[in-house]
Amino acid sequence: MDFEDFVQDLSSLEVISKDNQKMAVKLKGVPLQYANALRRVCLNGVPVFAVDTVDIIENTSVLADEGLAHRLGLVPLKTDLSRFNEPSKCECQSEAGCSNCKVMLVLDSGDSDVTRTVLSNELSSEDDSIKPISEKIPIVQLAPGQKIKVECYARLGRGTEHAKWNSATISTLTETDKDDERVLTVESTGALSPEQIILAGVDEVSNKLGEFKEMVSQIQE
Ligand SMILES: [Zn+2]
Repeated sequence: MDFEDFVQDLSSLEVISKDNQKMAVKLKGVPLQYANALRRVCLNGVPVFAVDTVDIIENTSVLADEGLAHRLGLVPLKTDLSRFNEPSKCECQSEAGCSNCKVMLVLDSGDSDVTRTVLSNELSSEDDSIKPISEKIPIVQLAPGQKIKVECYARLGRGTEHAKWNSATISTLTETDKDDERVLTVESTGALSPEQIILAGVDEVSNKLGEFKEMVSQIQE
């Protein structure tokens, strides 16, 4: 039986609790291997945006360039899946990317007379839908006279490639007292809503199973 037969869409899943960050749904009659596949995909198989490459134009902070790039990569970014493509699936098929698969964010701290912390709100994005989920994530501390100036390029990626692209911080499957009934709990990093993660996760598992079936049928021929 197909995965789609079990999970049509979110309306066929019973929502137990839901807020902006966290959502729990009841999976009824979904075989354990499918439920577990969905749990894993929700954790690290749904694409979200993260900074992938950084051009350091100026960095006089005490943090090495690599450290600064790493910190920028770990800032969770709000993601719009409807408008952007993963680079491997984008029509441009170019290393440089295009406006459908890449977003530039710039940060120019200037210098200051006092010691201060550069926060994520200083990252300015060329696309308003792709920006840090919070304005208060510390990036680097600057002493008087120090400054950083960087150009960051963000793209969609998956947590299976690097943890900075994880779509959820928590994705768990718990048993209930009824047979054949489990609870999937997903807590988002903030890049997507937990609802979007579960919906995209259902699509992803369906597609993977479809591809797998296709592969098997080709082997048989
Ligand atoms: Zn592109």
